[in-house]
Amino acid sequence: MDARALTRELLAFNTINPPGMEYACAQYLGGILEKAGFSVEFHDFAPQRTSLVARIGNGSRPPICFTGHVDTVPLGAAPWTRDAFAGETDGDRLYGRGSTDMKSGIAAFVAAAVELAGELARGPGLLLVITAGEEIGCEGAKYLADHALLGAAGAIVVAEPTGNYPFVGHKGLAWFEIETRGVTAHGSMPEVGDNAIVKMASVIGDLERFRFPVESHPVMGKPSMNVGTIRGGLNTNSVPDEARITLDTRTVPGIDHGHLCESLQALLAPRGARVRQIVDTKSLYTEPANEWVQQVFEACTPFLGGRPEPKTITFSTDGADLKRGFGGSIPAVILGPGEPTLAHQTDEWCSMGRIEQSVDLFRNLMRGWSPR
Ligand SMILES: [Zn+2]
Repeated sequence: MDARALTRELLAFNTINPPGMEYACAQYLGGILEKAGFSVEFHDFAPQRTSLVARIGNGSRPPICFTGHVDTVPLGAAPWTRDAFAGETDGDRLYGRGSTDMKSGIAAFVAAAVELAGELARGPGLLLVITAGEEIGCEGAKYLADHALLGAAGAIVVAEPTGNYPFVGHKGLAWFEIETRGVTAHGSMPEVGDNAIVKMASVIGDLERFRFPVESHPVMGKPSMNVGTIRGGLNTNSVPDEARITLDTRTVPGIDHGHLCESLQALLAPRGARVRQIVDTKSLYTEPANEWVQQVFEACTPFLGGRPEPKTITFSTDGADLKRGFGGSIPAVILGPGEPTLAHQTDEWCSMGRIEQSVDLFRNLMRGWSPR
């Protein structure tokens, strides 16, 4: 099976999220895998929002898991110079929404899986988790983990765009909405009202002084916080009785998101602010010294012109929720053919040479897990 051709076929399915509508794309991939001998289950977290779980192996020990998401982000406001769905090529470049993030990664592991199916069936084998709804809060992966639909796995490869560099994790993502309330009054008599925007200004001042319980991680660096949006007030001549901000925090291992929410609530309680968590994806991290991670580093070395250094990637992935679904203690790497700098960009493209490298690499990792 040609992974480049499969990438182009997947690009033709419009899986822009919102609304996602991954059903047809998931069915298409499920059909290919079923024909190759995998047992395939489809799971919808909402109508047409289909993830699939495909397994092959003799059950002797937990399989290796490869995962990817079929949804993509919207095309953006800037016009594209290429057709986003036609799989246009130019030299080594394959253009399209999702070419890098991450239909090429899915195509690479599906191509390797189909090719090795016979051999993998006789060992611990392979589990493929192809999710819907990743781009907005990892909805598909959360559904599979929350409903215990994943079974067991011994390691995870998240085939997100890394240019085939193996990353050992990423920060967690905790988003909050913070609300202040007041009492409205005519703008000419502010002393009669209670200004929610003024309260929010104090809240933002308090947040600037907030200290995370873990200040730094040896590989990931520091956790971060950003006030992303602010809304409040209806017109200039009224005292606003409501203001809201949203807060994007990126966390490192050791910071529990529930505890973080409570800390923010306690910090801001004197302002009368209410804190609500709106997005929750845990951090993902595997010690680089882990034996399997070292095998992955070894396998990647020929493609990178040197042995990889332990690094983490800036974006978050389904890997964190899947790891939770598998019981929490297995190693994971983020490794795929896409170009990390082109994810979510206008005129997104993927190197076809890298797609072929990924097929080689994934074949190697699937076989390494299931020695003949
Ligand atoms: Zn992605």
